[in-house]
Amino acid sequence: MSVLEPSLVPVFEEVVRRNPGEAEFHQAVREVFESLAPVVAKHPQYADEEIIRRLCEPERQIIFRVPWTDDAGHVQLNRGFRVEFNSALGPYKGGLRFHPSVYLGIVKFLGFEQIFKNALTGMPIGGGKGGSDFDPKGRSNGEIMRFCQSFMTELYRHLGEHTDVPAGDIGVGGREIGYLFGQYKRITNRYESGVLTGKGLTWGGSQVRTEATGYGVVFFVDEMLRDAGDALEGKRVVVSGSGNVAIYAIEKVHQLGGVVVACSDSAGYVVDEAGIDLDLLKDIKNTRRGRMSDYADERPGARFLEGGSIWDVPCDIALPCATQNELDAGGAAALARGGCTIVAEGANMPTTPDAIRTLREAGVRFAPGKAVNAGGVATSALEMQQNASRDSWTFAHTEERLEQIMRSIHDRCLETADEYGVPGDYVAGANIAGFIHVADAMLALGHI
Ligand code: NDP
Repeated sequence: MSVLEPSLVPVFEEVVRRNPGEAEFHQAVREVFESLAPVVAKHPQYADEEIIRRLCEPERQIIFRVPWTDDAGHVQLNRGFRVEFNSALGPYKGGLRFHPSVYLGIVKFLGFEQIFKNALTGMPIGGGKGGSDFDPKGRSNGEIMRFCQSFMTELYRHLGEHTDVPAGDIGVGGREIGYLFGQYKRITNRYESGVLTGKGLTWGGSQVRTEATGYGVVFFVDEMLRDAGDALEGKRVVVSGSGNVAIYAIEKVHQLGGVVVACSDSAGYVVDEAGIDLDLLKDIKNTRRGRMSDYADERPGARFLEGGSIWDVPCDIALPCATQNELDAGGAAALARGGCTIVAEGANMPTTPDAIRTLREAGVRFAPGKAVNAGGVATSALEMQQNASRDSWTFAHTEERLEQIMRSIHDRCLETADEYGVPGDYVAGANIAGFIHVADAMLALGHI
């Protein structure tokens, strides 16, 4: 672990004391703090006004009961969360995650990251995150719908297009957003399109929102390559996960001339030297809601490896797009040995602190999720813009906006890293640029 700037040590200790047992939240806070030494030195007003301490305390944390009835008629019980972290720049904005691992510490880490990510986009959105420990795996459509309806029956009172605007995340895609929006509309008697993003194209959604996070990841990587006088053409790429982010990252890599040779789910990974067959992958994951093992069964030449580490597959570029802390120091060392030169995070905090250190020592360029995967929330903000003006843009126009946003986030990271004396450090650049944007807004708004 790097040493913290001395004035930040008591602040970090306070975060750990006030949020006991929330390891992922502590990890996310520490990672930002490790970048802030040059900022604290240059801008004493942030310490004078306790900006950093205030940033670590969510504005509001909501925890609620979610009872629902399964297909057998039994009452099931889950816990719902919404952490409204910071609204200095706009309404709280961030996704909902349905996964059995969800607890307050996961929602807080995601909400904290979201503040800086949203600030980096330059769009008027604050940071928040939510979800539930509900496990959608193996649940029928009717069960998913009843769960979403019960979840929204409590959450709706906290939402609004100017207040808090959720979207999807792990376990929450277009189907779930539909059920959540339907229940919000029913309870409030308002067709308030701007209250949720990730909506279907025929009822208020935006072109490219589905593809945005994955496409944005690859636009960012493409810009990293350009910066080094290189291009994606002919590169071997490994993508972990096979959900929303992974699928559209694979699609854009293929469009730009690279080849994705492996992807995964929580049971194992597939290696397909001919390049992942996207039509088959989409059919299995999106239509049939199947598993990666089905892909290997149906695709000649592909192998499924149960368990094991996808990072053992040699590649030029690795894109972790599944979940937090999925790439550890061993995986990072394997990537470096296999010739990998770029790791860019499609997921939120997928790389452990030890793995980041290992990558750096091996000379692998590393870019953090809060910059690399910001295309999803940026396109959500574009969806809000279209909803507010009752307009809908074409796919080409929306994708062009996304591409511009990603290339400008990339440049902002590097410019900020240069300005603060850490050239080429994407982590510091993203953390400092995001922090200063939100900190200045907090200064302007007074002690709130
Ligand atoms: P999905 O639910 O669509 O897909 C998640 C994928 O990750 C699945 O392949 C899943 O496999 C795998 N996965 C999930 N949990 C684990 C685990 N504990 N161990 C191993 N694999 C796991 O989610 P998204 O693609 O939307 O999200 C992926 C990541 O990207 C998350 O970190 C999310 O926060 C981040 N992100 C998403 C954005 C979006 O717009 N959707 C925006 C920005 C960031 P299995 O099916 O076996 O569980």
